[in-house]
Amino acid sequence: MIELLFLLLPVAAAYGYVMGKNSAKNQAHEQNRKITSEYSKGLKFLLDREEDQGLEHLIKLLEVSADSVEHYLILATLFRKRGELDRAIRIHELLLKQPSLDIQVIQSCKLALAEDYIMAGLLDSAEEHLVELVKADYEEALMPIIQLYSQTREWQKGVSMYESHADLFTEQVYCAAIANFYCEAALEYQASENQSPDHSTDYLERALKLPKTTIRPLYELGHDALGKEDNVKAIYYWRKLVSQFPCAIPLVLQDLQVCYQRLNIEHEFHALVNDLLKTSGVLVKIKHCEGLVEAGHTQQAVAYLTDSLKREPSIRGFSFLLKLLATKQDKFQSVLNEVDNLVSAYVATKPDYQCRNCGFTSHKLYWLCPSCKSWESILPSQGVDGY
Ligand SMILES: [Zn+2]
Repeated sequence: MIELLFLLLPVAAAYGYVMGKNSAKNQAHEQNRKITSEYSKGLKFLLDREEDQGLEHLIKLLEVSADSVEHYLILATLFRKRGELDRAIRIHELLLKQPSLDIQVIQSCKLALAEDYIMAGLLDSAEEHLVELVKADYEEALMPIIQLYSQTREWQKGVSMYESHADLFTEQVYCAAIANFYCEAALEYQASENQSPDHSTDYLERALKLPKTTIRPLYELGHDALGKEDNVKAIYYWRKLVSQFPCAIPLVLQDLQVCYQRLNIEHEFHALVNDLLKTSGVLVKIKHCEGLVEAGHTQQAVAYLTDSLKREPSIRGFSFLLKLLATKQDKFQSVLNEVDNLVSAYVATKPDYQCRNCGFTSHKLYWLCPSCKSWESILPSQGVDGY
């Protein structure tokens, strides 16, 4: 009898194993059935054009299973595009509550949630998530938080973020933004009566220490020096600017000439203009011609400009050539002046600045493009109508 019991033991064990397996299978089956049922309901409502109920069912399903996270991220993006921010936010918040999501999914979900919050005007909540992501060295959060601080004009916060996570800021576009944050903060200090002028200069100098050099700190430091009547220092910063960024030459060329004149060393300015001739536009060529005229070589200036305009046509260059010719041609002076007036009136209607990123044009210099919100993308116009 005991032998029979021993023989039955493996049978009992096998039975227990099979039953247990079936019970787990049944549970999984029940779960799948529930998911499929909710999913079908959601789709049916959508197909019946009862979109609200359909979407509610799909969101409810998310509470049951977050296996297909990707689908939900797409769904949330769809809601955001339709302007249904509350639903996008709900999906992202629910996703973030799911246990055992991997870190990449959590981070992209937090970023998407922050973007929902920004669109919904909940800037504090957006900032909270973005700061967390930057602290976790998540580079994708840099541009949204830079844009957020640009929008709220919280320059100091942007500067502090940079100073505590400097390693992340390797790209030119991030450096340009932070350099401008330093400059904006410096200008605020300049305007405030409680701060010493040195405090503002210190901020501008700190902007020069960023991993990538950008235009504005050099531009502002030159003006800062000029404000203190330090012409030598202004020349120092602006020479750096014009040699590193030929596209920005028209921003400072006139002031640079004034600094040299004040120091009675204008010949050095003309030498600099000579050096810049190969790399820059029509404004430098006009300055070069002015130098020739001053030295009594008007005919040489006319020849140089005529030749240059054949290769690179420019309305501003043409206008200057008319002025030069008018001084030499007494007979046609009034006609040439009349034509020049027409050309100058035409040039005045052309925008002085253009965004290299989105094409926005303006008569005023903006460091932050009002259209595409990028920093330092607006520069003096180029081409036939430009500088
Ligand atoms: Zn732009």
